[in-house]
Amino acid sequence: MRIERKLRQELGRRLLTWYREHAADLPWRRVPNPYSVLVSEFMLQQTRVAAVVAYYDRWMERFPDVSALAKASEEEVLRSWEGLGYYARARNLHRIARLLVAEHGGRLPSRVEDLERLPGVGRYTAGAIASLAFGKRSPLVDGNVRRLFHRLFALPAETPADRLWEIAEVLLPSPRHCAAHNSALMEMGRTVCMPRKADCPRCPVSDLCRSRGGQVSLAPKPSPTRCEESAALIVQGGRAWLEPSQKGRYRGFWRLPMFDSGRMSNLGEACRLSYSITRYRVHLVVYWADWREKESGEGRWVSPEDLRGLPLPTPHRRALDMATPCSASPPALPMPSARKGEAVAFSPVGK
Ligand code: SF4
Repeated sequence: MRIERKLRQELGRRLLTWYREHAADLPWRRVPNPYSVLVSEFMLQQTRVAAVVAYYDRWMERFPDVSALAKASEEEVLRSWEGLGYYARARNLHRIARLLVAEHGGRLPSRVEDLERLPGVGRYTAGAIASLAFGKRSPLVDGNVRRLFHRLFALPAETPADRLWEIAEVLLPSPRHCAAHNSALMEMGRTVCMPRKADCPRCPVSDLCRSRGGQVSLAPKPSPTRCEESAALIVQGGRAWLEPSQKGRYRGFWRLPMFDSGRMSNLGEACRLSYSITRYRVHLVVYWADWREKESGEGRWVSPEDLRGLPLPTPHRRALDMATPCSASPPALPMPSARKGEAVAFSPVGK
């Protein structure tokens, strides 16, 4: 499919005009610099804008620049990311900061090829940083842009990803307008050409769209896979027993021990929680428990004060919040109830 020059120019002009009038006021857009773009792009991977805003502001207060982030411990970094999910992003961001300080004088590179060498930075994130932070003429394609292109140009579902990147490249305006152009594409996909319902009457390019008003076919969402987990809530003298998580998505976090009837006595059900992680729906039952013998394995007793500084998986912090001796733990971070990472429904059962 060839996109005529006249059409490209008209699309670009209208997108920019629309964006100037409708761009959302987001904190990372107010004072864009390479670090703020890097942080926001990492946070926005797999996570909705609304869920990211509060985390972003808090993060920038705690780690205002690359150097502050590089100096922080992994525990501090994970604690600040707690509740946002997909924790590999936080670990990679931390690694990037240390790498930049050690090898690049604390500065992010501006070339896509160099950006793609950083941990956790793929083609999209590199394109976003290069264009939004450095004004480079770099294309980007995220989920919103992909959907917009599919509808705008009536592309078949099997269109290869490389073709979408070619279209993004062909549509790029002069470097002066690249940042606004790329932001406009993403914003249009996010707020007008939305996944379930395209708002065509509000669309600035509706008369140029090849599928306007047509049915938008979306692959049906696969049903989540059900998982069952049991954890133990062991409290003594106002402190709770936590164990370090050594692997998996919660590596570096502290968590309730998984309930093991061989080493613990079940004192009754404390609460039930269900939450979603990626394609899983996890049903977690937390039991009040006591040691059958003396505590075994690596772990530590933590007070409510200790909990403030430790990173915990959100469901485990919720379970601890309902335990009387630990009820003075800090207020939970905003619950990302509608995002994919870790939506939690909480139902205390009582002791
Ligand atoms: S006209 Fe509708 S389907 Fe086409 S790009 Fe605009 S919002 Fe999307």
